[in-house]
Amino acid sequence: MIDYTTKLRKEVEVCIECGFCEAVCPTFSSSGFLPSYGARGRIILARDLIEKNSSPKFRELSSSFMSCLNCFACLHVCPAGVNAGAVSSYARQLINGSTPTKETDPLIRMILNLTEKFENPLGIQRQMSSWVDSSDVSFSNDSSILLYTGSMYQITPYLERLQRMREIMGESLTKFFASLIARFPTLSLVFKLLRDRKSVNSYENSLASIVKLLNSSGVVPRYLGASEPYPGTLLHDLGYSENFKRYAERVTSRFKDMGIRKIITVDPHTYDLLRNIYPDYVRDFNFEVYHYLEFIDMKQFTSSQESIVLHEPCHLVLHSSSSDFLHDVLDGICETKYPRRHGSRTECCGGPDELLFPDLSSSISRRRLKDLEDVGSSKIVTACPICEANLNLRGNVIDLADFLVQHHNTPRFSTRRPFQRK
Ligand code: SF4
Ligand code: SF4
Repeated sequence: MIDYTTKLRKEVEVCIECGFCEAVCPTFSSSGFLPSYGARGRIILARDLIEKNSSPKFRELSSSFMSCLNCFACLHVCPAGVNAGAVSSYARQLINGSTPTKETDPLIRMILNLTEKFENPLGIQRQMSSWVDSSDVSFSNDSSILLYTGSMYQITPYLERLQRMREIMGESLTKFFASLIARFPTLSLVFKLLRDRKSVNSYENSLASIVKLLNSSGVVPRYLGASEPYPGTLLHDLGYSENFKRYAERVTSRFKDMGIRKIITVDPHTYDLLRNIYPDYVRDFNFEVYHYLEFIDMKQFTSSQESIVLHEPCHLVLHSSSSDFLHDVLDGICETKYPRRHGSRTECCGGPDELLFPDLSSSISRRRLKDLEDVGSSKIVTACPICEANLNLRGNVIDLADFLVQHHNTPRFSTRRPFQRK
């Protein structure tokens, strides 16, 4: 098992407490400058955690580490190279680590139980492949190249609806239902009723756009359909490293049994998880992991006078040493403008805090949207379903794949299957 105490010590011992990281930490400013919700505060608390990690009072500090967005904005400004995002992640694994207890937040218990039972955090795995039925896309049953959606596009509209229900029902009732579902996972059937058809269609359409662009670039991958497992992102992000390890091994053995060699991911979180986290947990995780944009033939688009603002997702730009493909694909298609914070200073949309810190998340999203709108273009483009869900408060955010499809040089290049009369 990974020695998180050693990893934590290595990170925090070089911090000089200069506070540069606080200037870019979204949770620090949006919490009203609470030290424990800032990058430097997390480093200081992590030092305490290492020294007294068996003391029960340190469990109370978990909200400091759990509220970190893991955006890594702090890493890119730190003169000592400290990553307070990684510190928060290691601290979560030390505080939580294994099977949840009765004291664990019911929403977390529900997600852990449903993921282990149904390979989907809301227990709605059958809904995850319905997008294929209405999409004009091609797959190959024997390719060693796998399209791995990781369920992020498909699950986002359900999570959006869950948040709305939560606002209506209030926290206590929401947690009561979550604890019931955690105990009786088959009750997760109710989540199917949460769907907002328009929103589901929109995210499914983006997924279809991605595969259509791959197909038109000569890539016909394999797809597991209804048997595709969720990658376990939340198990890791919530700090349940033992559960995550077991689960990641299960997902990996599925890929190995099928003879997969290359994996094409479609969202920044799954891309980051498979490239940077899975190899630490799963022995011989020797697949080549790509983002779909790396396969797109750039010559298939027409240029226009259109001007857009690009919101660069932090898990793509700040967690990766090579994300040029995100910018290259837009070159020559439109005029790309950037908000005040962009590139290695890009700012998180606040999405990762939506489950446990909804008010903080909403404050971060609203501030980021204002920065994007202040640039002055009417269209904001992003490449992450979570960013889209959190920033699209006024209907002016579009997924990059849908934007590319709109600028394809083939007339009527659609992602939906043509309607056929019987
Ligand atoms: S983590 Fe880096 S930027 Fe933040 S206080 Fe420590 S040394 Fe300074
Ligand atoms: S990863 Fe992001 S939210 Fe977490 S401490 Fe660093 S800047 Fe703040």
